[in-house]
Amino acid sequence: MTSGSVPGDTVSSIAERAEAYRARLGAACERAERSPVSITTVVVTKTHPPSVLRAAMGAGFSDIGESRVQDMLAKMESVAGARWHLVGRLQRNKVVDVIGRAVLVHGVDRRSLVDELERRAADRGLVQRILIQVNVGEDPAKAGCPVDRALDLVAYARDAGHLAVEGLMTIPPIPPDGVDPNEHAEPFYARLRDLRDEARAQWSEVAHLSMGMSADLEAAVSTGATIVRVGTALLGPRRDPPWVP
Ligand SMILES: *Cc1c(COP(=O)(O)O)cnc(C)c1O
Repeated sequence: MTSGSVPGDTVSSIAERAEAYRARLGAACERAERSPVSITTVVVTKTHPPSVLRAAMGAGFSDIGESRVQDMLAKMESVAGARWHLVGRLQRNKVVDVIGRAVLVHGVDRRSLVDELERRAADRGLVQRILIQVNVGEDPAKAGCPVDRALDLVAYARDAGHLAVEGLMTIPPIPPDGVDPNEHAEPFYARLRDLRDEARAQWSEVAHLSMGMSADLEAAVSTGATIVRVGTALLGPRRDPPWVP
């Protein structure tokens, strides 16, 4: 066994979870009268070692999401062929490492971050694809720009020149105890969809909705998610302690 390899039972449990997940996604799509091919699943692999990423890819997933830049860079070294998504909070001093490496940066929520992304993308002579993160729950503990500033921020990033704003992203507030996560998330996801519709009416490329996690996949599908970010449903519980480079 090479270091960081994964026991055979983990590989088969990821394959089993993948099958159950596809059935669940398929049922949600059927109820929403949508095609499963209209939804990209980003497997969120935070805390997991590279071997788990390879097992997920072996189960047919090639979009991988990490929330920390250092972890993404380290895992890139040993996982070939993935499309990398940065789904977490991004510090300005880490932007230089992300440009051109992440296919999509999901968490862009302020002008200072847009400025740094633009500066580094321009330096490299490329266009970086991004999503604007919106704090639809107006939750002070959560990242994301306020709802009433979202369209301004979209316009600001579009005007920068080296950023392609391809849609909106959100993380809903945590449901209170005893509240069904799907029921709780639904109005927040509907709010993001309405905002996206408003943006898309002006700028047709603002099309994606990155919303939906393991617990609230059905609400995301029924409200129009085009990208869902799924961790535990595919990989099992997060590793404690987490894998570190
Ligand atoms: C961890 C994480 C997810 C996945 O959460 P699960 O509940 O494990 O599916 C999705 N989005 C973001 C931004 C995350 O940090």
